[in-house]
Amino acid sequence: MPQLARRMNAVKPSATAAVGKKVAAMKAAGINVLSFSIGVPGFLPPAHVYAAAHAAIDADKGAYFPAQGTPELLKAFQFRLKEDGFDYALNELCTCIGGKNGLYNLMQVLTEAGDEVIFPSPYWTSYPDIIALAGATPVAVPCTAAEHYKLTPAKLQAAITPRTRAFLFNNPNNPTGMLYTQAEVQALADVLMQHPHIWILSDDIYDKMVYDGEKFHHLLHAQPSLRDRTCIVQSLSKTYGMPGWRVGMVAAPEVVMKPLITLTEQALMNVSGVAMAAAAAAFAGDHTFLEPLKRGFEKKRDMTMAMLNTLQGVTCPHPQGAFYAFPNVKKLFGKTSAGGTLISDDMAFCNAMLEEEHVALVPGSGFGDAEAVRISYATSEALLTEGLTRFARFVNGLK
Ligand code: PLP
Repeated sequence: MPQLARRMNAVKPSATAAVGKKVAAMKAAGINVLSFSIGVPGFLPPAHVYAAAHAAIDADKGAYFPAQGTPELLKAFQFRLKEDGFDYALNELCTCIGGKNGLYNLMQVLTEAGDEVIFPSPYWTSYPDIIALAGATPVAVPCTAAEHYKLTPAKLQAAITPRTRAFLFNNPNNPTGMLYTQAEVQALADVLMQHPHIWILSDDIYDKMVYDGEKFHHLLHAQPSLRDRTCIVQSLSKTYGMPGWRVGMVAAPEVVMKPLITLTEQALMNVSGVAMAAAAAAFAGDHTFLEPLKRGFEKKRDMTMAMLNTLQGVTCPHPQGAFYAFPNVKKLFGKTSAGGTLISDDMAFCNAMLEEEHVALVPGSGFGDAEAVRISYATSEALLTEGLTRFARFVNGLK
C-alpha cells in the first residue's frame, strides 16, 4: 500500500460537518430532528441575485474567467468595502471559494512550518486545521465564559513569541456570538502595533449581523497603520444567504495579493462565473433587506436567551452578533438524563440531546471549549420555539 501524505495527520474532520451527517441520517430514517447545529443563515438572497445568475447562464461563452474574479465582482466588492470605510485598489482584491477557502489560501501564502498563528478560543472549528494544513502551529488562547469569551490585550501580548506569524481574529464571533466594543478592538490593535512581525487575518464574515443597536468595529479603523499587514476575509454566505454559492473575497496589500492570486490560478482557477455574477449583484444591490433580517435574528436571539436564562447550571454570555449562542453547561456534567445517559461531557450532552429530544447542537470541544455547546438560532421562529422547549425539558430532566 503506498503512503498517504503526513500533513493530513494533523487535520481532523469538521465538527459541524460530523453533526450534519448524523442529522441527515436521522432525518432519512424519518426522525423529526430539529437542527440547531449548522451555520446557515436560513434565508434566501434577494431576487436581483437570482436574476443576475440567470443572465450569466444566458450569456455564457464557454470560457474560463479571471482567477482573481470578474472585473464586475471586484468592483462591486471594492464599492462594498468603501461603504464600510476601507479603501482598496482592484489589484488588492481576490475572489475565493467561500471565506473558508480565503482563509486557507491566506494561510498557505503567509505561514509555514515553525510559525505560530494565534487566535482567541472559542474559535471557528476549521481554524486549527487550516493552520495545520499550512504546516504552521495553531495557538488557541482560551477565553472563558466569565470573560465573555473575549481576548484581552494582556492575553494577546502573552501569547506572542518571535515565532508568531499571524493573528486570526473573528468579530462577531462564531461560536460565541460575542461582539468586541470599540475600546476592546482598540486595545488589541495597540498590542499588534508593537509587533510588526505579525500578519493580521480579520475574518469579518459576520460584520453585518450586529444587534442591540451596536456597531461593528474593525482593527483597521482602530489603527489604520495596520493596513500594510492586514488581510480582510469576507463572504457572501451569511450576509446574503448564499452559503452554497461558495463565494468569498479577500482584500489584502499587494505584497500578499500577488502570491494569493498565483495560488488561486495554480490551485483553483476561477469561482463559477454564475456564482460570481450573483455575488456581484448581491454586493452592488439594495441592502435594505438587512435591517428586517437583523431584527428577526435579534428576536430569535432573545427567545434563545430567555430560555437559557431560566435554566439552573447554564450560563451564557449575551450574544450581540452572528447567530449563535454558546452556553456553558459544565455544571450539568456528572448528571444523568431522563433517558438514563450519564452526561460526562459536552459530547455526551449533545448525543443525549439528539437521541432523546431530537435536537442537534454542536459540542463545544469542536470550537476549543469542552464546557459549552453551540446553538445556531438561525431557524424559523416555530422550529426555534419547539427546539428551545425540548432543550429546556432535557436540561430540567437531568438528575
Ligand atoms: N469564518 C467563520 C467564523 C465562519 O463561521 C465560517 C462559516 O461558518 C467561515 C469563516 C466560512 O464560511 P464560508 O466559507 O461559507 O464563507
